[in-house]
Amino acid sequence: MTRRPLVAGNWKMNGVQASIGVLKKIIDGAQTLGNVDLIICPPATLIASFAAAARGTRVGIGGQDCHAEASGAYTGDISAEMLRDAGATAVILGHSERRRYHGETDSVVRAKTVAARRAGLLAIVCIGETRVQRDSGQANDVVRAQLDGSLPDACDDIVVAYEPVWAIGTGSTPTPGDVRAMHGLIREQLTSRFGDAGQAVRILYGGSVKPENAKELLGIENVDGALVGGASLNAGEFLAIARVYR
Ligand code: PEP
Repeated sequence: MTRRPLVAGNWKMNGVQASIGVLKKIIDGAQTLGNVDLIICPPATLIASFAAAARGTRVGIGGQDCHAEASGAYTGDISAEMLRDAGATAVILGHSERRRYHGETDSVVRAKTVAARRAGLLAIVCIGETRVQRDSGQANDVVRAQLDGSLPDACDDIVVAYEPVWAIGTGSTPTPGDVRAMHGLIREQLTSRFGDAGQAVRILYGGSVKPENAKELLGIENVDGALVGGASLNAGEFLAIARVYR
């Protein structure tokens, strides 16, 4: 089964209108890239302008969260339909920062994933253990439970991002052996639940991916791309990571 790789950038709460220059550099550089999909997920305030700038290019634009409902009295929230209307084609869901700072549980993430698919967005669903959970031997169980609880009944238009929480923004990464083992476990669970369709789901690795470690991490079996935080704010670094796929 060949899966087309995806490198997605999570800008988190970074970026203003003037940051469109970074997107334009990524769009320019992307023209010479090989077989890889690219998505940039800026803050919600930038989605419409970024989507307009990226229209007709090979760079997609995504949101970083959405509400489960399509509309209603949910002050401050944004629905999947609104992201789509603004030009997004994807959305990151269940990022560990949403789980930690906004109390998002697996069932909340699952409802948001259903909403994303309803609106025609690619859902990038994040899972991953904390340092304490890994050190106490619970990483596999935690990831299995998050995967089980966060995914809906079908897995088309879904990408899973394995992001060990302790690797996000820290410069630390798991060993290649640990990444291989966890991605293998995720693949196994996807295929036992969804059959052949589970083979087609892309599993991204996320957590301190940089140009220096991208080749090693992205070369691991069942690693179908990367979810990139810090390095995606720099066009050169983001492109250097994507260039692993020549
Ligand atoms: C992220 O927040 O999804 C992430 C992977 O961040 P970083 O690349 O900065 O570790």
